[in-house]
Amino acid sequence: MDRLTEAVEAIASRKEELFALLAELVSHPTVSPPARNSDAAQTVLANRLAAIGFEVDRWTVYPGDDNIVGRLPGSAPAKANSLIVNGHIDVAEVGDDASWTYPPFSLTRGADGRLYGRGVADMKGGLAASLFAIQMLREHGVELAGDLLFQSVIGEEAGEAGTLAALERGYQADYAVVVDTSNLHMQGQGGVITGWITIESPTTLHDGMRARTIHAGGGVRGASAIEKMAKIITALQELERDWAVMKAYPGFPAGSNTINPAVIEGGRHAAFIADRCALWITVHFYPNESYEQIIREIEDHVGRAAAADLWLRDHPPVFRWGGRSMIEDRGEIFPSLELDTKHPALAQLQAAYESELHAAPVVDMSPTVTDAGWFAHAGIPAVLFGPGELKYAHAVNESIDPEQLVRFAQIMARFIASWCNTSKEEKE
Ligand SMILES: [Zn+2]
Repeated sequence: MDRLTEAVEAIASRKEELFALLAELVSHPTVSPPARNSDAAQTVLANRLAAIGFEVDRWTVYPGDDNIVGRLPGSAPAKANSLIVNGHIDVAEVGDDASWTYPPFSLTRGADGRLYGRGVADMKGGLAASLFAIQMLREHGVELAGDLLFQSVIGEEAGEAGTLAALERGYQADYAVVVDTSNLHMQGQGGVITGWITIESPTTLHDGMRARTIHAGGGVRGASAIEKMAKIITALQELERDWAVMKAYPGFPAGSNTINPAVIEGGRHAAFIADRCALWITVHFYPNESYEQIIREIEDHVGRAAAADLWLRDHPPVFRWGGRSMIEDRGEIFPSLELDTKHPALAQLQAAYESELHAAPVVDMSPTVTDAGWFAHAGIPAVLFGPGELKYAHAVNESIDPEQLVRFAQIMARFIASWCNTSKEEKE
């Protein structure tokens, strides 16, 4: 039996060790928001990575939330393909856990055989299984010619830029697998950007001035920022409808590209005409669009609508797009990922899947967004591929099928051994 086959078989025969690692990760309540609570869980991963030969880089993104990047240098890194395995350590909120059948922060095997706990599907299962796969490769002496990077980032659930921070720190590779929840589908995704549109008047008028700003002979060109925002909302609805009619992307229901007026804040007191109004919008776009392009389309359309208004043309709305954290900035960006279905790495991942499951994997589009888009945005080809089902992620009684976790680890072991031993030139 060759070393890779031994490693793949050991994943199954030693699966209780994988579940124990998952249990340890689940025991740390890395809930986000409020976040700033992932240090202990990141230490678990950092220690594991160091124990199997990784150089570990750990840095603080926010106090209490460090990113971890482990690098396992390949034996011929200039010649062979490198790989990033990326996942997030934070988990969705639990709220009142009274409705949970099992305690959310204690991994429990249910009567149905599934594993229960917050984050098992999204996505401590993916992190634990990938790391265990790599550990088995190491313990069975499977050599990797290319560099292997393992990233455990913070903040994904709160739109925090943990993965962007790792990219900005300089980590690159020839391919990236984001092991977030995909039920073993190989997926691309659309993108999301939030933005604030603000209308502000340089003058604050008393409520008693309203008659002079709206009636014949008043002589004051004033405006309620709230009423002017209604025009902006109408313009956004027109654009949203045009997008729904004119744009489409395979794998998405028509009209998925929405512009949601999610939050509005405006006015100061009933005794004044509203001199400020801010609208928080959430915009969904397709995989073949960039958030930069979406910003231009919205600013252009809203700008033209404003230019046709006698007051707004002199006091145009101001835009503030995205942000690095919903908690700190009240803004986020998830770039889109257009899946390159011809990429040799995806072909190798599909082959690894087929050799374990004896069926072709589903290649489609995620109905949600993950950090995978950041790699595409940075020019690194990537795929979303992980265990767990979205219907259980973020849900009460989050659970995962332990057999799927084992299968995922086996597929990852085969894929890593294949891709990181493929020469950069041939790419086949
Ligand atoms: Zn996730």
